[in-house]
Amino acid sequence: MLVDSRARKFSYLRLSLTEACNFSCRYCLPEGYAPRDPGLPSELSLAEVRNLLLGFESAGFSKVRFTGGEPTLRKDLTEIIAFAASLPGFKYRALTTNGWNLRREAPAYRLAGLQGLNVSVDSLDADRFRKLTGRDRLNEILDGIDQALGLGFDSIKLNAVLHREHARDELDLFLNYVKTRPVTVRFIELMKTGKGGAYREAHYLSSGEMRLELLRQGWRPVERPDSGGPALELSHPEFQGRIGLIAPHAEGFCSSCNRLRVSSTGALRLCLFGDGNHDLREFFQSPEKARGLPERLANLLQLKAPSHRLLEGDTGNLGGFSEIGG
Ligand code: SAM
Ligand code: SF4
Repeated sequence: MLVDSRARKFSYLRLSLTEACNFSCRYCLPEGYAPRDPGLPSELSLAEVRNLLLGFESAGFSKVRFTGGEPTLRKDLTEIIAFAASLPGFKYRALTTNGWNLRREAPAYRLAGLQGLNVSVDSLDADRFRKLTGRDRLNEILDGIDQALGLGFDSIKLNAVLHREHARDELDLFLNYVKTRPVTVRFIELMKTGKGGAYREAHYLSSGEMRLELLRQGWRPVERPDSGGPALELSHPEFQGRIGLIAPHAEGFCSSCNRLRVSSTGALRLCLFGDGNHDLREFFQSPEKARGLPERLANLLQLKAPSHRLLEGDTGNLGGFSEIGG
């Protein structure tokens, strides 16, 4: 397995399959997606994605998450999931989606071998949802999640970006939601990006206040394995689901980092809040070329910074999350 100079082990690939998106979330793509300039590199083809997965498998990666942009806009997503599932190394395959087409596509994704499903649902209030995402689609998405609950996924999570003006109201709505559903709702602190600085200033809320409220209501932190990711998860004996809090500004957030991100054009991003991408596309041109990937990754990992510098006000050069998938 790949290890960096801080002895962090890397086994989790987050692969963006497209920058395109059909939503216009106000903190991510407020103007909606504008097609790439044709002069810029194109999205990885299905053959390139396959070679990429072969390369990361041989570097010891065991978990892959498909993200975007909106990954379900790719017509070959089911084939991509099936290919990942055919590789013995990738024991866990997951997807992050806005859920717009879940009702129709979730059964095919599940059959192809998808195990983890994260759906972004910023609000359980239909009007607020429409204002935040630009799409009037909350009820269809929630129906899709309820249907997915019967499909045997190992894990279903909802992601909700925290907004200070309606955090309290949403907490009550989501608590009601998880009372009878075995899903984890994760509240994510708004992160600053190149395009989203002013929005964050206006709407940011630290998850600390929510944590105190949950503790007050009898929720308790859950012990999780090392590979459990950066969320603090809480459970309550009277609720089927859990609540998670993702606080990237909290101290120690980077010490358990186990993930590498690759953009939809095949560039490695060592840290979400770092300054650069490293083009790996040449390794995805054939299965033979992919064999050289582990060595290249091992070298690049030595450049990985011990921690982001968000507390110093340095957010790196990421324009917005749709570029890499969050
Ligand atoms: N389109 C898919 C979706 O929305 O789930 C996948 C890509 S989206 C960029 C991945 C996640 O990043 C979403 O849960 C979204 O809420 C989150 N995100 C986007 N911009 C963010 C920001 N500035 N701060 C915190 N989370 C953000
Ligand atoms: Fe699209 Fe996801 Fe960004 Fe919303 S958060 S605009 S759904 S990429």
